[in-house]
Amino acid sequence: MKKASVISIGNELLSGRTVDTNCAHLSERLLSISIPVVSSYVVRDEVEAIVRSLDLAVGEADVVLITGGLGPTDDDVTRQALAAFLKVELQFQGELLEKIMVFFARRGRQMAIKNKVQAYIPAGSKALANNLGTAPGIMAKVGEKLLFALPGVPSEMERMFEESVIPELRKLDVERVIVIRKLRCFGTGESNIAELLGDFGRRGRNPLINFTAGHGVITLHIVATAANEAQARRMAEKDEKQLRGMLGEFVYGTGEQTLAEVVGDKLARKGKTIAVAESCTGGLVSKLLTDVPGASRYLTHGWITYSNGAKISELGVASGLIEKHGAVSEEVAQAMARRAREKAGADAAIAVTGIAGPTGGREQKPVGLVYVSVEWDGGSDSKRFSFSGDREAIRLRTALTALNMLRLKI
Ligand code: ATP
Ligand code: MG
Repeated sequence: MKKASVISIGNELLSGRTVDTNCAHLSERLLSISIPVVSSYVVRDEVEAIVRSLDLAVGEADVVLITGGLGPTDDDVTRQALAAFLKVELQFQGELLEKIMVFFARRGRQMAIKNKVQAYIPAGSKALANNLGTAPGIMAKVGEKLLFALPGVPSEMERMFEESVIPELRKLDVERVIVIRKLRCFGTGESNIAELLGDFGRRGRNPLINFTAGHGVITLHIVATAANEAQARRMAEKDEKQLRGMLGEFVYGTGEQTLAEVVGDKLARKGKTIAVAESCTGGLVSKLLTDVPGASRYLTHGWITYSNGAKISELGVASGLIEKHGAVSEEVAQAMARRAREKAGADAAIAVTGIAGPTGGREQKPVGLVYVSVEWDGGSDSKRFSFSGDREAIRLRTALTALNMLRLKI
């Protein structure tokens, strides 16, 4: 099996100013084309340090991807480092300079003298076109091994990887093919899912089932390895079917699907509409729903009724109800959902009220206490939750939980 190593270059990655998302992106993409990443290095903008990491990477991988340090300023030294590692000179390429000049001319800008250094690449290497920026990428060969240097800017790096690197990697004989299918789950904990899976979770199994979790969304990665793609696909599909059977309604989707997409899709298919009334989430449920293009097919209204007064004046929740039970109560959540649905004339409604913290909690009503209510034609359901984490985590968990409650009802 072919293996890869990723080198992320930049002082800002070591000082914590920038999170290394390039490595995560490349690792996922490389694995999806059956070239697992076996090591990654984060290195400062310094020739010797980069050369050292190249020595290590080339020693353990067939494909090495470098990102960052291709810019025009003096602190960008990836070109020099690559030339030093390859033991060749940097060579000026007139064609590259022309492309950089065209890039500036199209934007009506004058090219700075500094940008000329970007027209130099190590002798014997190949330039990779950058359609979003000025820095060309570089491809070099060391024996049978392939080295790629890509820009640090994530959007430029991703585009160049898809357009120039993937076609080169597809020419490699990967020997064993990996197919990954993702199953997205919500509504129970990671340990419960692991228990339901039983032997499927065994290490060393093929397909291997990996878990990732965040904000209540648990993702099962079914990683099937086989001699060819068709076989790996069959193995992954067979596992997916069995896992779905075992996990039932905890599974809400596959691949990169979000809860909002799945809920929206269900509403659209049934020709149903929805309204949202939010307190502690401050519009997050509506935000998640409207992240999906075409949400206007089903979302009619979203109210943020943060104060008691707004719950009364905008939705028509009875003031006596709030006085009696408090704004964070099942009764008020229920009334918010019912009134939102009526006022919007929608088929369904979601309402949330809770205490996101870090202040505002009391013994009776601690931080993380949340009530979610959903109403639809034919019924209503309200639930009390007690979430942990910081304000952001509680709010996101609340919004996702509300969407999940609706998913199970429609
Ligand atoms: P240029 O200088 O032309 O923009 P470059 O190839 O020199 O390109 P850098 O200067 O290293 O790239 O980085 C440009 C931007 O991309 C910076 O804002 C940096 O924070 C970001 N960046 C660099 N490397 C990474 C990375 N590994 N993950 C996420 N962002 C990164
Ligand atoms: Mg840099």
